[in-house]
Formats: sequence, C-alpha cells, structure tokens
Amino acid sequence: MSETIVDVLIIGGGVIGLTSAWFLSKKGLSIAVLEKNHLGMGASWAGAGIIPPGNVERAQTPNDKLRSRGAHLHPILHQELLEETLIDNGYRISGGVEIMPRDELPNPERVLGWQQEGIPFEFLDPKDWGAFQGLDLSIHNLAVQFPTMAQVRNPRHLRALEKANTNRGVHLHPNTEISHMDTALGRITAVHDKKGNSYHPGKVLFATGAWTGLCDHKILGLDPMIHPIRGQMVQFYCPESFGWPIVEVGKRYLVPRGDGVLLVGSTEELAGFDASVTPTGLEELLGFAREMIPSLATKEPQKSWAGLRPYATRGIPFIGPLPGCSNAFMNAGHFRWGFQFSPAAAEITCAQMTEQSLNWIPLNCFDPSNPPPFQVSKLFMS
Ligand SMILES: Cc1cc2nc3c(=O)[nH]c(=O)nc-3n(C[C@H](O)[C@H](O)[C@H](O)COP(=O)(O)OP(=O)(O)OC[C@H]3O[C@@H](n4cnc5c(N)ncnc54)[C@H](O)[C@@H]3O)c2cc1C
Repeated sequence: MSETIVDVLIIGGGVIGLTSAWFLSKKGLSIAVLEKNHLGMGASWAGAGIIPPGNVERAQTPNDKLRSRGAHLHPILHQELLEETLIDNGYRISGGVEIMPRDELPNPERVLGWQQEGIPFEFLDPKDWGAFQGLDLSIHNLAVQFPTMAQVRNPRHLRALEKANTNRGVHLHPNTEISHMDTALGRITAVHDKKGNSYHPGKVLFATGAWTGLCDHKILGLDPMIHPIRGQMVQFYCPESFGWPIVEVGKRYLVPRGDGVLLVGSTEELAGFDASVTPTGLEELLGFAREMIPSLATKEPQKSWAGLRPYATRGIPFIGPLPGCSNAFMNAGHFRWGFQFSPAAAEITCAQMTEQSLNWIPLNCFDPSNPPPFQVSKLFMS
C-alpha cells in the first residue's frame, strides 16, 4: 500500500492518456497513469493508424484543426520517440487513394474543403490504377489520390510511448482499477485503487476512451454521452501489397504496412462493451478484401481483432476542464480519429493544465460543457 503525490494523475492508458503523459512530463511535471487493463490495449491498439494529411493554418472546423495539427506533429513525435526509445513506430507517408463506391462522385463540399485547406489531391481512373497494382476496381469509376496521407503502426507507437514515459519517470500503473475518489471543496483530493494504494494529485485527467460514460457523472459534472462503437479488423500476409498506398472505399479500407502485412478494416457496430470478433463481421471484411484483391480468394487471414471506438454523440471530442471538480480535466471521445488527433489533443491538454495558450487553436474549442458553436468535418472518411 502506497501514498503517491503527483502533479497530474491520468486515468486511462490509451494513446490519448500516454501521449498526454509524454507532453506533460516534458514540461517537468510529475505524472502517474492508472490503467485498469494492459496499457494501450483499448481502442488504440486495435486501430489502423491512418494519419490523413492537413494544413492547420487553413483548416476550417475544430476537428479539421486537430487532424491537421496531428498530421504536422506525428513525424516530429516519431523522431522524438525514436531518439528516446530506439523504437521505430512505423510512421511513413505511404499515400492514400479513396475509391468512390460504385457510381458515386465525391461530395462537392469535400472537394472544396480539400482545396480550401490546400491538401494535395488528384483524381485517378481506378480501373487503370487498380489493374496496375493488382487490385480489382472494375466496378468503380472514380478515385482520389492523397499523396501525403501517412500511417503509424499502432502497437509499436504505443510501446514507444510506454517506454518513453518510463524513461522520463512517469509512473505507469497497468492493471489498476480505481475503487473510489475523495473530493473536498470542489476538488479531487485523492484517488484510491483496488490494491489499496492512494494517489494525491494536483490535477486529474480523464482519458478513459469509450468507458468515459461509466465514470462518476457527479465528479465529472456532466454526462459526456460517449458510447462504444465496435470496430473489427483482419490481417493478411499479402506480399502484393508492398508498394500500395492506403486504399479506402467508404468506411472500409486496406492498410498495407509496407512489409507484406495488410490490415483490412473495419466494421462500425453498436455492441455495448463487447470487443469480440464475430462471424458476421469477419465475413463482411473478408468479402470486401477478396472482392478488391483477387489473390486473397484462397488465403486465410493471419489474425483478427476488435476494439471499441469512443463515439461522442456531439461530433467533437471533450478536451478541457470539467464543471464537476475544479482540478479535473477530460480528453476523450475521439471516435474514428483518436490516433491521428492524439499529439494535437495532448498538446491542448498540456496547454490547459499548464495555463499556456496555443497559437493554432483557442483552448475552449472542445470545452466539455460549453463549446463555442462548431461544424463537424466531413473531409476524410477515416
Ligand atoms: C478498428 C479501429 C480502427 C481505427 N482506426 C483508426 C485510424 O486509422 N486512425 C485514427 O486516428 N483512429 C483510428 N481509430 C480510433 C482510435 O483508435 C481511437 O479514437 C483512439 O484509440 C482512442 O484513444 P483513447 O486513448 O481515448 O482510448 P483507448 O485506447 O480505448 O484508451 C482508454 C483506456 O482507458 C482505460 N480506462 C477506462 N476507464 C478506466 C478507469 N475507470 N480506470 C482506469 N482505466 C480506465 C481503458 O481500459 C483504456 O485502456 C480506430 C479504432 C478502431 C477500433
């Protein structure tokens, strides 16, 4: 049984919690992270790591700003983590191609949005391009290429974050469930875990992903309306995919890792907190993959998994101080975009907790209880 005093206690050890810990520890703050399961094994481990391009100076909506700042920070974070840990998180600009489903044209608002933001893109004939790559795109008429789309390998990125945080003296506590919290004078004064340890934090960050709605609403001061949306994935070994970019068709995608590993994703399902792979989900993904890649017809996947995306019904994440306790903050509800957003979202949390400002975004944009009026972005599918 121990008593720990820390500047910041982070609840939740996914990509948002671990990246926030990294940013805050670089400011010299003492940090502890409490994770009820294994570190990074929630939605963050399960994702595809797609990092769409962006241009933060010209991005229009709050989510576009997070995406574009994330696109700018990911290569910097990749380099920092590599130097700190010698772990290569697999960041690379692989490019991406979005194939329009059957006869659909891209929504003109999206095309205008890419132009306004200054995102490089080019229309392609998917039939010719697909035949050249060994993909069957014969039923599709239009595709858009994004040469600066990038990707990260999630498990490697999370391992690197874990190691970098450990090197910096962040106290990481996996398999640690909270039993209760003490509050006094509108502040969280202590957090107690089920092993009998107590933490006395200056500030507390809820980075609890899809489980945020289960946190004590009295302490948060609101019902965050964040729900789990299951996403299933399968992985093939597919040597044909060596030179491919990321390929997206609606909400389905192929993510080639560059060494023959090919991820095929993903479903979007309401299934409560059940993160299992189902026969129907698997069948859907295998059907999609085999329609696109004829050579997979007789191949079995190497593995499959599922994760729970934190879906915020309001359409933007919750990043900021909570109304329930004056030293409590939240960074949660990133849905399909948490990996790409993570460095930018962590930068905001870090600025809020250290009372600094950022020149690329007003800090109240994602206010948990009272955000300024906002539009929801529709520029990228993932
Ligand atoms: C199949 C799939 C594909 C995806 N693809 C992409 C993609 O290509 N690009 C992209 O940007 N995003 C993608 N995402 C979304 C992205 O993975 C998520 O938005 C992101 O991982 C959310 O991070 P998080 O840290 O908030 O949540 P999580 O990673 O789920 O972490 C939250 C953690 O908090 C812990 N926790 C919760 N409550 C408590 C508590 N009371 N005490 C202690 N610990 C607690 C949980 O155990 C969990 O580990 C994908 C997601 C899925 C499922």
